[in-house]
Amino acid sequence: MSLWQERWPQVTILVASLVVLTVFFARQHHYSRYPKLLHRFRWGFLFFTLFFIGFYAQGQLSVVNIFTLLLSLYDGFEIGTFLLDPVIFILWTFTFITLFIWGRGLFCGWLCPFGAMQEMASWLGKTLRVRQRKVPEAWHRRLIHLKYLILVGLVGTSFHSLTLAEQLSEVEPFKTSLTLYFWRYWPFVVYAVGLLVAGMFVHKFFCRYLCPLGAGLAVLGKFRLFSWLERVKLCGQPCQTCKNQCEINAIRTDGRIDYNECIQCLECVVILRDDTRCVDSLIQQKRQRRARIQAVNVGVS
Ligand code: SF4
Ligand code: SF4
Repeated sequence: MSLWQERWPQVTILVASLVVLTVFFARQHHYSRYPKLLHRFRWGFLFFTLFFIGFYAQGQLSVVNIFTLLLSLYDGFEIGTFLLDPVIFILWTFTFITLFIWGRGLFCGWLCPFGAMQEMASWLGKTLRVRQRKVPEAWHRRLIHLKYLILVGLVGTSFHSLTLAEQLSEVEPFKTSLTLYFWRYWPFVVYAVGLLVAGMFVHKFFCRYLCPLGAGLAVLGKFRLFSWLERVKLCGQPCQTCKNQCEINAIRTDGRIDYNECIQCLECVVILRDDTRCVDSLIQQKRQRRARIQAVNVGVS
């Protein structure tokens, strides 16, 4: 109780921001009509996530939380242990509930401080004109499985030795970057900075291929009940506009969205609502123009 009372300002701001985010997501089809507003809101939220949730409130979730929960379920669940950190408790509860509505993307695209840091690294890379690398589709499809292997390895190890699993979970650079502000024994710093530099070349390299937390959320996200991101008939057959624009390569060549990978940046919904970019809209406009011209011609003759 005293821990919650001590941190009530953080708790209040966090809960308020989650309410705002939920309303925004529930009305995403409306807001996606205003790309400028959506982009500003997203970048504003990413800054909030990195500086308030990450650096200030120390609210970076971790794979360690996953195996702590599994072990506690195995040994006899005790809620008190999880209530010790109000910020982490609220974030986990929110993430867990929204996994069934929007999948892993709501957390990975909006609420993960290291994810936000990578988006900023990617932006910096593009601003400095670093050549963006596209991982070939076949390699991408293989490499995305790596994070699941890491997750299975860590969870398996935790049942054998929790200490070892916690040491191995340093594969997540969260402690180095967010808890210790990159002030640590140099190999850890080189690793964390190296991942951010990799992210300047390949958008969110760590999230796509290595993050065990992202993998864990994707597994739970499989029980998602809705598919919010709108698609139309031409998506993927033959139009590849959204696929080419999706920076994380979460759209398959046949137009389907891979919700295990999608970070809900909403860029594809923005394209779909943009009459000047969506091929489906452009074709419909062309047809309407043709029909109007034919109608005029028939009237004249
Ligand atoms: S994949 Fe991992 S690092 Fe990336 S946004 Fe998700 S939880 Fe964060
Ligand atoms: S562009 Fe669409 S499919 Fe790709 S990450 Fe963003 S919301 Fe998901």
